[in-house]
Amino acid sequence: MTATQPLELLAPLSGVLLALDQVPDPVFASRMIGDGLCIDPTSQTLCAPLTGVVSNIQNTGHAVSITDDNGVQVLMHIGLDTVNLAGKGFTRLVEEGQRVEAGEPLIEFDADYVALNARSLLTLMLVVSGEPFTLLANGAVDIGQPLLQVSPGEPIEAASEEEGDALFSKPLSLPNANGLHARPAAVFAQAAKGFNASIYLHKQTQSANAKSLVAIMALQTVQGDILQVSAAGEEAEAAIKALVELLAQGCGEPVAATVAVVESVVSATVLRGVCASPGSACGHVVQVAEPELSIPEKGAGEAVERAALARALRAATEALQTLQAKAVGSAQAEIFRAHQELLEDPTLLEHAHGLLAAGKSAAFSWHSATAATVKLFQGLGNALIAERAADLADVGQRVLKLILEIEDRAWDLPERAILIAEQLTPSQTASLDTGKVLGFVTVGGGATSHVAILARALGLPAICGVPVQVLALVNGKHVLLDADKGELHLEPNQAEIEQLKAARQQQAQRQQRDVAQAALPAITRDGHHIEVTANVASLQEVEQSLTLGGEGVGLLRSEFLYLDRNRAPSPEEQASTYTAIARALGAERNLVVRTLDVGGDKPLAYVPMEAETNPFLGLRGIRLCLERPELLREQFRAILASAGLARLHIMLPMVSLLSELHLARRILEEEALALGVGELPKLGIMIEVPSAALMADVFAPHVDFFSIGTNDLTQYTLAMDRDHPRLASQADSFHPAVLRLIATTVKAAHAHGKWVGVCGALASEALAVPVLIGLGVDELSVSVPLIPTIKATVRELDLVDCQSIARQVLGLEEAAQVREALRGFHAATVETSSVLEN
Ligand code: PEP
Ligand code: MG
Repeated sequence: MTATQPLELLAPLSGVLLALDQVPDPVFASRMIGDGLCIDPTSQTLCAPLTGVVSNIQNTGHAVSITDDNGVQVLMHIGLDTVNLAGKGFTRLVEEGQRVEAGEPLIEFDADYVALNARSLLTLMLVVSGEPFTLLANGAVDIGQPLLQVSPGEPIEAASEEEGDALFSKPLSLPNANGLHARPAAVFAQAAKGFNASIYLHKQTQSANAKSLVAIMALQTVQGDILQVSAAGEEAEAAIKALVELLAQGCGEPVAATVAVVESVVSATVLRGVCASPGSACGHVVQVAEPELSIPEKGAGEAVERAALARALRAATEALQTLQAKAVGSAQAEIFRAHQELLEDPTLLEHAHGLLAAGKSAAFSWHSATAATVKLFQGLGNALIAERAADLADVGQRVLKLILEIEDRAWDLPERAILIAEQLTPSQTASLDTGKVLGFVTVGGGATSHVAILARALGLPAICGVPVQVLALVNGKHVLLDADKGELHLEPNQAEIEQLKAARQQQAQRQQRDVAQAALPAITRDGHHIEVTANVASLQEVEQSLTLGGEGVGLLRSEFLYLDRNRAPSPEEQASTYTAIARALGAERNLVVRTLDVGGDKPLAYVPMEAETNPFLGLRGIRLCLERPELLREQFRAILASAGLARLHIMLPMVSLLSELHLARRILEEEALALGVGELPKLGIMIEVPSAALMADVFAPHVDFFSIGTNDLTQYTLAMDRDHPRLASQADSFHPAVLRLIATTVKAAHAHGKWVGVCGALASEALAVPVLIGLGVDELSVSVPLIPTIKATVRELDLVDCQSIARQVLGLEEAAQVREALRGFHAATVETSSVLEN
């Protein structure tokens, strides 16, 4: 098929045709959005006028665009000002990215409701890609009847991308009440077309070609979205200035007081994200992107295609097994085992087989099945599920390449590469040549993603959640990655480089010394013992913690033992895991097993949960377990199997009400009685919700211990999502509000003779150790590799000094002040200890 064959567009509705000039709306009538026609509808289901892909469907359901294989793009807009209806009266029948046949229903609408509540029901069909057309009908038309004949000229060549670094505007907040819907988007795109520059509009991690109306609409912007304009080329600066002003003024729509137009051009020298894996490196930018694959839709017969899919799945399984064998016992192995499970997922396979039966190719069927699930995962608004989407996309791509027989060649990388990518997949990360790659920077991803876990396992510094402008950096540019601070320096000077090198050397020396002394107890110089235990998620980590001087396990995140399973582990399997961990620790060491903390950011595939609007405030942790007591009973039984092998403690997560503790204790007592376990394990709760901290005096008589989960306590106290890339620097556990809650908790616990630990990430920060000790915390449960550092830090301190700095920081105003005070304290302490040592 060539691009020059004429294309007939079918009537998307029945009704009466009108010329665009008759539309009472200057933007449509002037053809600024595109030429086409208007229908006064008599039917209520909008159907596709051509075969193609749904390139955009507005969340409000009032507008949809279809793009065919030759790039002909048709926008349909139901009614005028219908964006104001905010979706009421419209039902979307298709998803963005879905392929549709001409005549297929796209949107249903309630004509009465729309006519009564919007300015007009007149519906527009516009050829926004600009091809010429001739009219095939007039007057009354029936749905499906040919309406226009479009002559697609030669495919319009994509405007050549301008070379060189792009300039970026400062972020600005979108003032339009209904976001950039069709009309303001058209005004913006029209203005952008006037500049000799390649221009993009950015919203968080998404970017749209600013000259494409549909691309802008696909950003689905809403009022208050933070946007940036970037431009490269001759008129870049002028374009940014004009377009930022246009955005601030509402792109032709009246907006409340013009937002302060921000300084138009930024030439940031530091880009910030969050630390995914610590460390630092100096190297050269290498932009990496996955090539687009061409996927044939039609198959060569069901049996042939079925066999092709089966072959590819088998080959992928073998490849994953090899990767697991290479990484046995490590985090990588676990991740690839999870990928292998995805290959067997019955829902995915059922979806793919359905398409094979409909005559589609193996590649098309598999790709559609995985892509639909990836999209579903991404749309749930849950950071952890979105990260699992990245895993699925990765497996999907692996199988797809096998079907298409595309060889996965390793990237040809120069030495000292700092990789820059929209997103890396776990497979790409695991196969990085660490001889050449010094670190990486991604726009997507989060500190809890599998990619972050792999980067840590490989010892590669990495940051994620970096602004999209990083994708505009030219290859070969010399940059400095300071992952500890979450920063990428674009213009590093020699002094900064030297400073970083020296700091790295010092850190390495100190680390060596701390590891050598890891077996020494953590006793302050004035004789106060702090128990330093480990946060673990596997037997392997428990064993590693013991070699690094860990004094027990302060937090076993039991939900991580089986996070990537599709099927629940059997009771015997659970019991044998806990028993093996308890045995490794021995009868003299604490083992604190936290019961399943599922929900919120941690879904478990085998515990089906309903989607929640606000999962962090929903059925999480103990709440979910009490809703499904069988789950809790089974876990209690499995944990109790290890009674006597270690000093067993059970800890309940996310407790916010005293009644939750009472209910859980009753269940534990019943299960212990049934199993004939005479001595109950110690029972404690996590303090990670402000209500529990504030009522610690009420909880204390009923528990054996508290352990403070500063990760959640911070997010709930400051009302800031713990995985939000843009809030990462403010959601700081050093905030005095969090520290005051820790103080309240410790005071209440000690008044009742109970001990208090901290198992959130704050305990793993050497800077926080003095304040935690000063507040009276008895145990620090830390991430395994940091055990030697935290123990060494304790040994440098005096309890009385810690008490005094703790009192002081509780009175400060914000986290930054606390950090500064603690840095001052640290400098003074280290000086004193080195004087004493000499
Ligand atoms: C915490 O919230 O601090 C904690 C230790 O629990 P998790 O990070 O597993 O939610
Ligand atoms: Mg928590």
